[in-house]
Amino acid sequence: MVSATHTYARSQELYADATEALAGGVNSNFRLGGRPVPLFFTRGARAHLWDADGNDYVDYVLGMGPNILGHAPPAVTDAVAESLGRGVLFAGQYAEEIALARLVQRLVPCAERVRFGLSGSEMDQAAIRVARAATGRDVIVKFEGHYHGWFDTLLVSTQPPLDHAGPDDAPAKWYPSAGQSRHAADDLHVLPWNDLDALTRHLDAHAGEIAGVLMEPVLCNTCVIAPRPGYLEGVRELCDRHGIVLIFDEVITGFRLGLGGAGRRLGVTPDLAVFAKAIGGGYPIAALAGKERFMSLLTGPVLHGGTYNGNMVSTIAALATLGELARGGDALYADMEARGGRLMAGLRDAAAAAGVPLHVQGFGVAFNTTFGAVGPIANYRDYARTDLPTQKRFVGELQDRGVRVTARGTWFLSTAHTDADVTRTLAAARDVLRSLSTPPVPAGGAA
Ligand code: PMP
Repeated sequence: MVSATHTYARSQELYADATEALAGGVNSNFRLGGRPVPLFFTRGARAHLWDADGNDYVDYVLGMGPNILGHAPPAVTDAVAESLGRGVLFAGQYAEEIALARLVQRLVPCAERVRFGLSGSEMDQAAIRVARAATGRDVIVKFEGHYHGWFDTLLVSTQPPLDHAGPDDAPAKWYPSAGQSRHAADDLHVLPWNDLDALTRHLDAHAGEIAGVLMEPVLCNTCVIAPRPGYLEGVRELCDRHGIVLIFDEVITGFRLGLGGAGRRLGVTPDLAVFAKAIGGGYPIAALAGKERFMSLLTGPVLHGGTYNGNMVSTIAALATLGELARGGDALYADMEARGGRLMAGLRDAAAAAGVPLHVQGFGVAFNTTFGAVGPIANYRDYARTDLPTQKRFVGELQDRGVRVTARGTWFLSTAHTDADVTRTLAAARDVLRSLSTPPVPAGGAA
């Protein structure tokens, strides 16, 4: 039995202080929704985190995915520490940048050339700029429920409320942020994902305008949804037929679903792919990788800049992280996947025993938990119709028992999670699921 033990007095104090210094008390709007406040942490090690009240957690948030080797992995920390004495920024090149690019070339099928930047948001901008330059066309197709960063050009229909989302097969554009320029996304077309017929119809009608099709190849920002069998292959074929640049946003999937990311694991090679998060093991780095004929545009015509691009800390951290992952190879991923698979199965069993309609889907290395799904979840709208308040309660109750999961119910595994972590997590989950089970409504309606 694992009961709720965590209390948050110190985080509450710090948060009150923070709101007088930081806008909203946080540095990302995605951190605003904590319970009872956005929590403050003091330390992370392996798969564990400690907060300002001394509470410990098995951490499945992992910095929203990046910490694939766990927190503070010695191989990365030591390599970065050793590099610090050499300086951080030269506004010039150094040999380790080449070594990192060569490693990405070796591991990622589309990576004939690579560029490094700092965040997924930025490198998605670089990708669509290259696609537009390569084709001389303006329109980018994106899909409902996919997230490609917080900039005006792509922050559209990420999580539209269903009453503002328009018809299932012709989503209305929805803009999540006040202050967004509608015009910046005029050249964006939003379609339902995992629906090859819808994409075929759209491309047949608009092919001459469309520069690129951009997607998360596994939809990790919505419930970790896998593409339907044949979907990615079909998209690849359509893009080839119409001369459209296919861009995979592998910011979450890259080096998480496997060494080369989702493209390699699922056997479909895009023209361009964006990596971030796991590539740097928690340090700020992102990459645009792609076929030479597109990447060569970055040698002059297409501008991509950034003062901090290729800084020493990020490069060394990524070299050390990818080095560890590549050394472990497929066996390391199989191990992570198996441990995550055990967790997924344990959660399903616990829910069945408690009579709670928990739905677990995804991959061992990244999966999602939600409630009240009617059948498999294949796109954003299926997910938006699930019982999101119960999911929120589930995640909050887990936190109180020392298990930290993302607010949207996504769980990330690292190489640092152990069998003991999984066992502890399942004990907490059993307790939470029991508390969520409610007696069935009597026949004839609620009393
Ligand atoms: N693309 C995807 C698929 C993402 O998940 C994210 C971040 N969650 C981004 C792009 C943006 O990356 P960043 O936060 O590094 O700008």
